[in-house]
Amino acid sequence: MERSKAMKLNFDPALFIGGEWIATPDRIAVRDKYTGEVFGHAGRASRDLVERAVAVAERTFKTRSLHPYERYEILSAAARLLRERKDEVLRTMVAESGFTANDCLNDFNRCIQTLTVSAEEAKRITGELVPIQGAPGQDERRLAFTLRMPVGVVCAITPFNSPLNTVAHKVAPALAAGNTVVLKPASYTPFSAILLCRIMMDAGLPAGFLNLVFGSGSDVGQWLLEDQRILYYTFTGSTEVGRVIQQYAGLRRTQLELGNISATIVCADASLEAAADKCVGASFRKAGQVCTSVQRILVDAKVIERFADLLAQRTAKLKVGDPREADTFVGPMIDEKEAERAESWVSAAAGAGAKIMLGGKRNGALFAPTILRNVRPDMKVVCEEIFAPVISLIPFEDYDRAIEIANATPFGLSVGVFTNDVTRALGTIRRLQMGTIHINDTSSSRVDLMPYGGVKDSGFGKEGPRYAIHDMTEERLVTLNVI
Ligand code: NDP
Repeated sequence: MERSKAMKLNFDPALFIGGEWIATPDRIAVRDKYTGEVFGHAGRASRDLVERAVAVAERTFKTRSLHPYERYEILSAAARLLRERKDEVLRTMVAESGFTANDCLNDFNRCIQTLTVSAEEAKRITGELVPIQGAPGQDERRLAFTLRMPVGVVCAITPFNSPLNTVAHKVAPALAAGNTVVLKPASYTPFSAILLCRIMMDAGLPAGFLNLVFGSGSDVGQWLLEDQRILYYTFTGSTEVGRVIQQYAGLRRTQLELGNISATIVCADASLEAAADKCVGASFRKAGQVCTSVQRILVDAKVIERFADLLAQRTAKLKVGDPREADTFVGPMIDEKEAERAESWVSAAAGAGAKIMLGGKRNGALFAPTILRNVRPDMKVVCEEIFAPVISLIPFEDYDRAIEIANATPFGLSVGVFTNDVTRALGTIRRLQMGTIHINDTSSSRVDLMPYGGVKDSGFGKEGPRYAIHDMTEERLVTLNVI
């Protein structure tokens, strides 16, 4: 255990407003999620400071703008600086999130992509020519075209489970689009956001464009929702909080990336070994705390015994423990009480007849990767989002039934289908009510430049820099008569 590494991290309890770090008397203690030690404090915002952050963002939007090429240069420089600060960023992420070094490295590399692609897209914001002559009576010389304009102050509210890259997925496209930002990260993981803010400033972002406040959702989050100067909310988190945000937003626009109970379908004709390899990674990385983590694996009954064995053999080898050790695959959950919750759901399922094929054990915040069988649709392990390293194997007799089961939740973020029958896979994709459908990959596959977002209770609006920039700009139509 390298406790000293965590202890060396040094953050002042301060908020970043108008280009200055403002110390606050009130602080949030941040624990190393593996050792449990408090290794730093973030500043807790008062209502006055939240208002100040929004006021600065609004004033900056009204009085300064960045040329698209400047936005490109700043975001490109930020990607370079991030690469240079790798050690500091990775140590911080591992300590505050408890995610393994490997999971953090993956997020780190993806974040470089998110910044780079956002930089590129800043140069490509464009409207379109509207063929107005297509309407009867229009002068052939009349022109109509659209422009895309930034919306104004964007508020980004982010979850603990991707403390760097999800923050970047909000902030970088917002800035690339020409907006100003007030960011409120999760209280569990404030420090990666501080590092990203420092990087943006060192990359040349002028004061006022990015402002950072900390505090719990129930007060600081709530004050941000009440502030009518904010014109756009970009949120990733639970569906429950997403509903609150939408209620307060009213006619203001939002992008909501919410929960899911992710399914991956394994057909009898699939390459079972490849499917098992991918499912293990997609179920247990980040201790299952990913919105697209595989929670339900729907397997053709003809091959379920074989697939279950392949999955169990692989899962049994996963090391659970200290996230700083290079070979650890499953680190602690974000909080012991979350691991207790997962444990209670698994125990309740077992009590009602489910079979624990592997795992099911908890040690503090560590929860062993768990495979369940014989589950029923009304068990919490399959009918609620577990957000823990727990999967249920569910047999199906025919593919239509697998589609029905995959769709039978209030959510619709993402699904995976393993099959070698491309005709069947493509012929049925329209029946999967999901934002993303991956064939021969799991529900948890993602490339940062893709459009990413859900349907149904998984939210709406898209991440992925090009698509987020589109969401975070508004269209103006211009017509020109020649008279
Ligand atoms: P939460 O919804 O609990 O929190 C997310 C953020 O919202 C935090 O910053 C939190 O602040 C803030 N918040 C909480 N209450 C309010 C409120 N009333 N008003 C404004 N802000 C508020 O989610 P978790 O952090 O627990 O993340 C897990 C959830 O996120 C899962 O459901 C998961 O599926 C979803 N998720 C979705 C993703 C997607 O892309 N669709 C990706 C990742 C996660 P604080 O915590 O500081 O109180």
